[in-house]
This record gives sequence, structure tokens and C-alpha cells, in this order.
Amino acid sequence: MSKRPTMNDVWPDKCGVYILDNESTATRFIDKKIKELDSMDSEEPFQVLNLDTLIQMHLKWLSYLPRVKPFYAVKCNSTETVLRTLNALGTGFDCASKGEISQVLSLGVKPENIIYAHTTKPQSHIKYACAQGVNLMTFDDEEELQKVSRCHPKAKLVLRIAVDDSSSFYRLSSKFGAGLSTTGRLLECAAELGLEVVGVSFHIGSKCSQSLAFRQAIADARSVFDTKLLGFQFSLLDIGGGFSGKDFPFSEVINGALDEYFPFESGVQVIAEPGRYYAESTFTLAANVIAKRKESPEKLMMYYLSDGVFGSLNSVLKFTDKNEVTPYLHRQAVDNDEKRYRSVIWGPTCHNIDKIVDNYLITELHVGDWLLIDNIGAYGISISTEFNGFKRSSIYSVVTNETWHTLNLSSQ
Ligand code: PLP
Repeated sequence: MSKRPTMNDVWPDKCGVYILDNESTATRFIDKKIKELDSMDSEEPFQVLNLDTLIQMHLKWLSYLPRVKPFYAVKCNSTETVLRTLNALGTGFDCASKGEISQVLSLGVKPENIIYAHTTKPQSHIKYACAQGVNLMTFDDEEELQKVSRCHPKAKLVLRIAVDDSSSFYRLSSKFGAGLSTTGRLLECAAELGLEVVGVSFHIGSKCSQSLAFRQAIADARSVFDTKLLGFQFSLLDIGGGFSGKDFPFSEVINGALDEYFPFESGVQVIAEPGRYYAESTFTLAANVIAKRKESPEKLMMYYLSDGVFGSLNSVLKFTDKNEVTPYLHRQAVDNDEKRYRSVIWGPTCHNIDKIVDNYLITELHVGDWLLIDNIGAYGISISTEFNGFKRSSIYSVVTNETWHTLNLSSQ
């Protein structure tokens, strides 16, 4: 087992983290920041990364899925403070490319704590992983095995299987994963090439809504372990991502399936690649009302914010549940009974798809007001652009004094 990094390794100069004094909270930090921006006549949007929330999510993971080591999916949100915190907490990292591998290595992550979890890799990225000692990587096809045998013959390969992802919002099995009928041939091919296959992985798809999908996928992975083909010693099961960012509805089913198909005594190491689970609830966006139009009085209000779907709110484009994004006014409404108007809230760009919410009931807003939107950490900033010349929002990381000291003590 490699030694856990110390806080000095992972937080050079506190890395721009705001340590909240005893009285303060993330909400108060947002209040202060808004006052400061108002005093400078700035409408620049900003995000607050609450490290206490990130740490709570990790503690929850440890208590709900104690057998499963998380390898955080960097693609979901690669903000440096997120990566540094998770490294300090001892998670591994799922990287999708040379760029992500290089980013986490530069933060002091050990190569053995990285899985290169992409089944269709550029050869130059495989060579880079090899040179850096990143050995664990996924595959799902013979062509990929050929590339790995040329570029990283000592790799420890994980066979990604396609699973039933019909209960997930983002379905990945149409693009990745070997069908169960092809796994035998793939393992033969790996053996012919002298490659080492150490385990099986799957990804149930993002925003999975059915726990039984996980159970079936774990059973499918077991069936590949049971092929006992060609002397491979499988020792790793990777149950991928797909976990909700809000709660933990599937742990009972997952733990039950693991105990049934991969009992503790089997010695199989179980890992996962959660992205949304860690990132979603840890970020809040503050955006300014930069413009306002009344389509016709009493009918429809239109507001334009300083951030939108080409910026931090990219994931809104995919939402089907319109209740998923719920902007709320930062200033106190004059009165709780204040009248609410049917409103459309747009992002700042000229594109008509830059719409944040439609038919939204909210009190009347004014130019210069600030709206807050919680739970925007997953697949927002990582996909954001500077379309129309609007800059990406700044990110401020905050942590309570107590948590900061607990972290420091626990890592010495
Ligand atoms: N692992 C792989 C290979 C992925 O493609 C993804 C998301 O696309 C993830 C992990 C993270 O998934 P999620 O954010 O749903 O946990």
C-alpha cells in the first residue's frame, strides 16, 4: 500500500482555499463576494466549491459502500481543489486521456492510484501512460489490444463489458463495452498477445434510476470471471459510475450483489468511477441578472443572466425534468407573499438554446439582482465554453475552519 499524501504535499500555499472563520459559512462567503462584486460594478458569475460538502459525500460513500474504493472520474469536474481534496482523502482517479493523467500526476497522485478508463485510446496517450507508470487501463475490443501490446505491453488490463443501461439517462453501452458473447474471444486474443487481464469493468450509464441494473451488471461481470479462461487471475471488479449526486439509493442492492457474487473472501478488489456523485452537490453558482424584458405585463417575464448553458450550466441542456434547476434569489424577497410571475431565465449569449428555465415561477427580479443555483458541479464547468466572449465563471473554494483542521490532523 502506498503512503497517503500529507497535507503539505497536497495543499501548497493552501491552493487558494478560503478557510471560513468560526462564525462563517459558505452562504456568508457568497454574501460577501456579491457585496464585493457589487461595489466594483461587476456582474461576473462565480461558483463556490464547498469542500465540507465534498468531504461529507466521501464519508457517506465510505459508510454506504465500504468495500468499494472510489476512483473519482476527473472528466466530471477537474477543478484542482476537488482533485487535491480527493487525493488527500485517499481516493483514486479515473482518467480518460493523457491530459487528465498529466493533470492528476502533477498534483502528486501516484500512478498506481489511476485507472485509464477509456476503451478507445489514442496510441500516443497509451505510450504516455506507459512512460508514467500508469498501468491499469480498460479495453473492449481486439484492435485496442493490438495497440496496447505495441504501446504498453506490461499494462494491467480491465475488460469493460456492455451492460443493460436502459434505466440510465446517459446511456454508454451503445458506444463502449464488449458484448458478453465476445468476451471469450477477447480474452483469447489478449492471451495470444501475451497481455495481462486483471479484471472486469462496466458502466451502468449516468443518472441510473434502477438499482437492479447494478445487480444484473455485477452478475454479468461474475459470469466473465467464471470463464476462468487461459489462466488469467482476475482480481479486480470495477463497477463504474452512474451514482446519483443527491442520495444513495442503491447501496443495499450493490452491497448485496457484491456479497453474493464477489464475497469478501474471494479477495477481489472492488473499485468504482463516480463522477457526478462527488461533484454535483459541491458547487453553487451565483449569476447576475444582466437584462430584463417584460413580454407583456402580467404575462411573461424574461431575465438574462451572466452565466448560461454555454458556461457553467451546460448540463441543463440535457435535463428533461424541469425541476432539476431551481434558481433562487440571493437577496431576501421583500415579503414571502410577494407575487410570483411566470418567467423565462436565459443565459447571456445570442443563441436561442441558451435557456436555463422556462415557465418558472419567481418573484419579480431586477437588473443587478443575483440568483443562486445549487448542485451545478457535475459536467458543467468541464464542458463550459467562452462562446460569445463570455468568460468562464471564477471558482472559489471554501472550507470551514474545523474541517480544515481535521483534515490537517488526519493526514499527519
Ligand atoms: N467512468 C466512465 C468510463 C465514464 O464514461 C463516466 C461518465 O461518462 C464516468 C465514469 C462517470 O460517470 P458518473 O458521473 O455518472 O458517475
